[in-house]
Amino acid sequence: MTISVAIIGSGPAGFYTADALVNGGCDVQVDIIERLPTPYGLIRGGVAPDHQTTKKVARKYERTALFDQVRYFGNVEVNKDVSLAELREMYDAVVLAVGAPSDRKLTIPGADKKGVHGSAAFVGWYNGHPDFRDLEPDLNTRAAVVIGNGNVALDCARVLVRSREGMAGADIAAHAMEMIETAPLTDVYLTGRRGPLDAKFTNVELRELGALERAVPLARAAQLPDAVPDDMDPRDKRLAERNLANLRDYATNDPDAKPKRIHFEFFAQPVAILGDARVEAVSFERTRVVDGRAEGTGELFEIPCGLVIAAIGYRSDPIEGAPFDDKAGIIPNADGRVDDGLYAVGWIKRGPSGVISSNRPDGVTVAEYICEDFQNAAGKPGRAALAPVLEERGVRVVTFDDWKKIEAAEIARAKGSGNPREKFVTVPEMLKVLDA
Ligand code: NAP
Repeated sequence: MTISVAIIGSGPAGFYTADALVNGGCDVQVDIIERLPTPYGLIRGGVAPDHQTTKKVARKYERTALFDQVRYFGNVEVNKDVSLAELREMYDAVVLAVGAPSDRKLTIPGADKKGVHGSAAFVGWYNGHPDFRDLEPDLNTRAAVVIGNGNVALDCARVLVRSREGMAGADIAAHAMEMIETAPLTDVYLTGRRGPLDAKFTNVELRELGALERAVPLARAAQLPDAVPDDMDPRDKRLAERNLANLRDYATNDPDAKPKRIHFEFFAQPVAILGDARVEAVSFERTRVVDGRAEGTGELFEIPCGLVIAAIGYRSDPIEGAPFDDKAGIIPNADGRVDDGLYAVGWIKRGPSGVISSNRPDGVTVAEYICEDFQNAAGKPGRAALAPVLEERGVRVVTFDDWKKIEAAEIARAKGSGNPREKFVTVPEMLKVLDA
């Protein structure tokens, strides 16, 4: 008996699940349903455009999409074109792999002023995600503040200071490159509410800042500890030592060595965004770290700026027809099991943490559960039920072959530029390729 599975979301978690199902030894038919015409989720819309090595994993996902058992249904929005309840009727198993596409909200006074953006929106904008094409952040400022000490904060700070030459070989959206290239921005402040040992940067990403073509990273020696405490977990300790060594280097850099600067500002808790309609400065309270927590010292200081990126983490959105734990920002689940025939993988299952490959074990586990749970089931029709419903509703399904045509057009548009592709950044543009 063939087990029919619908996976909602075509990012890493969705593709790892599809791959594990096909290679898991049970008889499956897997449909990957994606809201956008384009697949790969965070690989296309989240991973920084100058991190092409990370994006190469999409080749593996492509091999998965081309298995006979797998079909891609792009441009199909769940709960608009077809409901989750309907999918659960049609398929034996439905796997939610929709990630964490929204920003964790910055809740300090003034956070709604013009010029303050969440990192999900800002990253989506420079990566050409159709949802954020029209964000148009105003980069006409000399200084920007990035709030957060994670890898997304590093990505945002780095992309803001890169040049067109430095971005050669990247697939940054053309509209973003144009704006970044010509912006008068000279100083980006990368601020963390705790200290250098608490930062969540991975070392390769922190080190990368030392080799930027037109920006120099600066840290302040007075904010760096003499040593890493011995009682740290050995893995965290190794990372902290490596990061500390880089920050010590950055503390000796000449601020005038390059035209732009990235300033590390630790022990800085944002307390208000200042300005009239637009941001003019961020007010911070100096902190000290006590038992791992940031504790305010009462000392306030301001960083004048015309742009703020809050890179303080992502959030999943509730899905109609599935339970949601609003506090944790995830779908409540037992190791990926949500309800009879309903599963969750990736960031909607466990929150927005880890690297791309951290999603693989989620997919493997859920694939095993699905094979186990449906080995003796009667079998629902799956694709045979979905395809006619979408047709009847006039939904323009983008197949994997269609996506390859869109991709070929993006590659052709980039010819001669040295970049791997020039992305289409709106859905109508993508669909127009298929009409040609
Ligand atoms: P993250 O690693 O969780 O970092 C979030 C940062 O925001 C932390 O420094 C956190 O500080 C701070 N923060 C949270 N709430 C705050 C508040 N109210 N005020 C001030 N600061 C606040 O999240 P992320 O950077 O969004 O990254 C998400 C995941 O993607 C991570 O696992 C990351 O490693 C991964 N990623 C990896 C790469 C890569 O490998 N190249 C690139 C991008 C993303 P506290 O620590 O004090 O809470």
